[in-house]
Amino acid sequence: MSLAARVATLQARIQRACEAAGRDSASLELLPVSKRQPLALIRAAAELGFRRFGENYVQEGADKANAAPDLAFLLLGPLQRNKAKAALQHFTELQSLDRPDLVERLRRLAVELDVVRPVWIQVDLWDEATKLGGCSETDLPALLHALGGDPRLPLQGLMAIPPPDQVGAFAQLAGLRDRLQQELGQPLRLSMGMSGDLEAAIAAGSDQIRIGTAFFGERIY
Ligand SMILES: *Cc1c(COP(=O)(O)O)cnc(C)c1O
Repeated sequence: MSLAARVATLQARIQRACEAAGRDSASLELLPVSKRQPLALIRAAAELGFRRFGENYVQEGADKANAAPDLAFLLLGPLQRNKAKAALQHFTELQSLDRPDLVERLRRLAVELDVVRPVWIQVDLWDEATKLGGCSETDLPALLHALGGDPRLPLQGLMAIPPPDQVGAFAQLAGLRDRLQQELGQPLRLSMGMSGDLEAAIAAGSDQIRIGTAFFGERIY
């Protein structure tokens, strides 16, 4: 299947999910996840009008960002302290903030590099952190304190990768987002839903779905 045909199929699927949920599809961002996909396919997606792409690995994303300076790459994957500087240099947004020490380092480096980078907190409400990263609800206050409302790292919202068998996970995330929004007095977006579960995420109020295989096809390993 061509990229254009696959994306059209995906967009029809998203449209049906939005209609079923009584939502306007314009309220939802479709973020293509281009990890392990060649630059040529990213270029083809750009031809279809996509400008922002999610990547999981710092080096791979940095290489693509260097090769395609007209496009924006967001870091979705786990971030190690020693890659924090490269992440700020090459990615326009960071979605996987999950530890105070990492946040403190990013704040110092953002001053040093004189950059502003919108950030998301990755949450893990299901004790999956060992596998996928993410901050528990208990550790969230410490993380928010470390972030300290820093204007160089403006908080966009919450990102999560719930385990596939976790019934009600998306509603749980929406609840957490609502509470946090109240507490911080600012709007927060929800980045949730992937190729296999976008319908449930849209029904629960996702603001951004991150789609890899249903957009680009199988990844190349
Ligand atoms: C790979 C990945 C996706 C996309 O996964 P698909 O199942 O291929 O849609 C979304 N979010 C994150 C954080 C990922 O690592």
